Amino acid sequence: IFITFEGGEGAGKSTQITTLADALRQGGRDVVVTREPGGSPGAEAVRHVILSGAAEPFGPAMEAILFAAARSDHVEQVIRPAVDAGKIVLCDRFMDSSRVYQGVTGNLGADFMQPLEASAINGMVPDLTLILDLPAEEGMRRANARRGDEGADRFEKETMDVHRRRREAFLDIAHTEPDRCRIIDAGRPPNLVAVDIIREVTNLLTA
Ligand code: C5P
Repeated sequence: IFITFEGGEGAGKSTQITTLADALRQGGRDVVVTREPGGSPGAEAVRHVILSGAAEPFGPAMEAILFAAARSDHVEQVIRPAVDAGKIVLCDRFMDSSRVYQGVTGNLGADFMQPLEASAINGMVPDLTLILDLPAEEGMRRANARRGDEGADRFEKETMDVHRRRREAFLDIAHTEPDRCRIIDAGRPPNLVAVDIIREVTNLLTA
């Protein structure tokens, strides 16, 4: 089973993944927690290049191709072997982040992004994608409260309008692929968000 978590900055993805992983393990499930960009040694090297600021001169196309290269490695080295072994894989960001960050706010468009996505995931479509949704202002407020994170420099340069467009783009994906995606209201306290997530995952596991 392959479950991805998506959403803008400050949505609480990593907190929710930790909570869900604990709950599933207590239920006796074998869980692998991973993230993008990164998740495999090769992909973590690419993450470092992109998020360290070294990628400043890269254009959006180069960045998108690097993300796709990293995703391909992550899928083949980590995700597919774990799913084939019967584990539950929880991934912090995946293909929808590329559609949104590079495709929509990076202005590359779907014609450019779709073939890249197909090569990168090679059929490894998530069984369930949880889109953690909250207003851009609230996401910014939360993300600013944890300065010093890797990527903070990039983040601070982005306007509120960009964050709003990303939110809309994630919601568009959810509405376009309702079988795969669920929108989770992430503006509430973490324990309430976790209840919704566990319900969705239980539905998937008992389907
Ligand atoms: O998951 P997290 O919020 O830590 O993501 C790190 C950063 O990577 C994000 O802030 C985002 O700017 C960037 N990113 C991206 N394109 C992706 C995935 C992540 O630009 N496809």
